[in-house]
Order: sequence, then C-alpha cells, then structure tokens
Amino acid sequence: MKQAAISRRDFLKAAGLVGLSTAIATPKLKLLAPAQQKAEAQAEERWVPSICMMCPAACQVLVRVRDGRIEKIEGNPKGPINLGKICARGQAALFRVYNPDRLKKPLLRDNPAARGSFSGFREASWDEALDAVAAHLKKLISENRVKEVAILGGWPVCLYFEPALKAFGEAIGTPNVIGIPGAACFFPKAFGWSTAIGVGAHSQILTDYDNVKYLIVIRRNFFGSISVVHGTRAGRKLGSYKLVVVDPRFSETAAKADLWLPIRPGTISPSFSR
Ligand code: SF4
Repeated sequence: MKQAAISRRDFLKAAGLVGLSTAIATPKLKLLAPAQQKAEAQAEERWVPSICMMCPAACQVLVRVRDGRIEKIEGNPKGPINLGKICARGQAALFRVYNPDRLKKPLLRDNPAARGSFSGFREASWDEALDAVAAHLKKLISENRVKEVAILGGWPVCLYFEPALKAFGEAIGTPNVIGIPGAACFFPKAFGWSTAIGVGAHSQILTDYDNVKYLIVIRRNFFGSISVVHGTRAGRKLGSYKLVVVDPRFSETAAKADLWLPIRPGTISPSFSR
C-alpha cells in the first residue's frame, strides 16, 4: 500500500485545524486580554499567615492573595509543627473556597417525603432558614421532645465551636452535641495518651526523630499520607536510623524502609499480642 506523502506545511496546517476545533469545543479556555493580563500581574500580592483547617494537624500556612482572591497555599517556614511543609490536601484547600459545588446558601426541603434522597432542596435566605429551625425547636420544646434534637459537626466544630454549641444545647435542653472526629477519633486517642504517658496533644507527643536509631512503623504511611508533621521530621533524618515497616501494603513508607514486613491482612493484632 502506498503511503500518502505529508509535507511539514500540511502537517502544521492539520495541527492548526485540530487546535482550532479543540478551542471551539472547549469555549471555557479563554486567553486573558493583554490589558487584563497586565492588571492581574500588577495587582498587589500578599502572603497572609493562617492555619490549615483540612485536618487536626493544623499546619501553619501562608496564603497568597491577589486582588482579594486566594491564588496559592504554601507551608509557613516559621511553623514549628509542620516546618514549612504542607500536604496535597492542604494545598487543595483553595477549592474549599472556590469549588463550584460549594454551598453558599442554606438549603431547605419543603417535602419531608423526599428524605433520604438528594432531591427536593431549594435555596433559602438565612432569615428563612433560621426561622424554620427556630419553629422546629419551639415545637419540640413545647412537646417536651427536645432531647430528640442532635447537633452534629465536623472537626472545626469539635475543636473550636463545641463550647458555644454545648452551651446552646444546654440552653434548649439537649445533651446531644457532637463534633464527629473529636468524639470518634482524636479525643479517645488524646485521652489514652494522657492516661498512659501524661501528655495528650499532637505537639506534646512528637517523636524525637533527631535521636531515633530504630523506628518501627506499624500500619502507618506517613511518607504517603497527609501526616506532614511526622513525614517531614522522619524524612529529613532518613538514613540516620533503621526503618522497619509492618504493613500488608507496599506503601510509600514501606518503599523507603530498611525492612518491610508484609504481614497478612487482618493479622496485625495476633502478630503483636503473642
Ligand atoms: S497535614 Fe495537610 S491537611 Fe493536615 S493540616 Fe497539615 S497541610 Fe492541612
């Protein structure tokens, strides 16, 4: 079969057409007008110190802000906990603000029959939403059923807002105020630490990686997960201690180990109780 000869000029023309059709098919990809580019480049850039709220490690960060918009999040080199590093999740925190799916208004559902589905919600004003909550609470209080009220929140609730919400719960008469990660994860851990060794906070129980000679890591992947605090410290001393990783999975941490013990899944407790 004879192959058609394609000159360099034909190829570039075809590539140009493909590029043009791609541009037509993706109208969102717009170039900034030169004047706009210049304005953006000249807009004042600020680095604002803050704290990452994406997990309880609470790494110290610097947020680059230009013209009132967040552009980038980096670790704060002055942060004593994370030593200037942050994980991918912390960098992606930008989308907590700019994710197009972020809810910015209360959603109300008028049809109780739609419970259990994601349908039937409509946007409401804050006044309307607060009035609806107040009406429900008053009804339950008047019927002596206020203990059926539960207030649940994520980890910022358990760390920062729980005292205020607990006071609100006590004022209306319900004990059911729960910050999920705190109750289910962090507080039992901190309680166990403080009972066993006398201290209970992350910053108080940091491993002394500068003096570690032999590190046994059991089912923990601090080189491949969000554990910046330990990953950074253990990583910069890697090679100065012997690293043993006990994990069925060949994790990023196992990949850096001197010895990887790939126990069978589900055997972790028997392995260490014998
Ligand atoms: S470990 Fe990652 S997610 Fe957690 S606080 Fe630090 S940067 Fe944020």
